[in-house]
Amino acid sequence: MNKNLFSSNSKGGCPDCAGLGFESINMHFMADVKMICETCNGKKYTSGVLSYKFKGKNIHDVLEMTSEEASNFFDDEQIKKRLNMLTEVGLGYLNLGQTLDTLSGGESQRLKLASNLHKKGGFYVLDEPTSGLHSSDIEKLLKLLNRLVDNGNSVLVIEHNLDVIGKTDWIIDLGPDGGDMGGQIVAQGTPEDVAKVIVSYTGQFLSKFL
Ligand SMILES: [Zn+2]
Repeated sequence: MNKNLFSSNSKGGCPDCAGLGFESINMHFMADVKMICETCNGKKYTSGVLSYKFKGKNIHDVLEMTSEEASNFFDDEQIKKRLNMLTEVGLGYLNLGQTLDTLSGGESQRLKLASNLHKKGGFYVLDEPTSGLHSSDIEKLLKLLNRLVDNGNSVLVIEHNLDVIGKTDWIIDLGPDGGDMGGQIVAQGTPEDVAKVIVSYTGQFLSKFL
């Protein structure tokens, strides 16, 4: 059996919707309307492919599982390991078949970082990774960044958010002001060190925050 049959954008895809599960209807001056494909009922695959089952589930059923559910469903250690990584970064609720365009900014960022979690010796530079994130998402991001560091990677974050700054190992505070008025190192050290520096704006905010 050809494994491409189980990719909806390859051989196994429903021919009427090209494996998308829906058809877009052009509404001219309005946004396109998505209609569930009547041939596959939104399941994306041909009925032939859907008739193959593993432990009673077809490929559509499996893709509807959350990564947490799938981790219990599969016995293979390699598969479990990868799925558990998603749970660890707080994405255990995502469906396996969920498309990337439905993820929030925070979710896609965590997903990208999670895929590097098993690597060592990397150096990650993140420019204001918390912008647009909900506070619960910031907490998950921080956990993930700490895991990367614990696993032997370095993380450099350019950030204004005190939740992040207050939890770093080392701060390099650039100033004294923004843009052309800055560019000098005003203070550096642990958050506790920097909080004691009177001339550092970051330090002043940190001293109230810590
Ligand atoms: Zn279809």
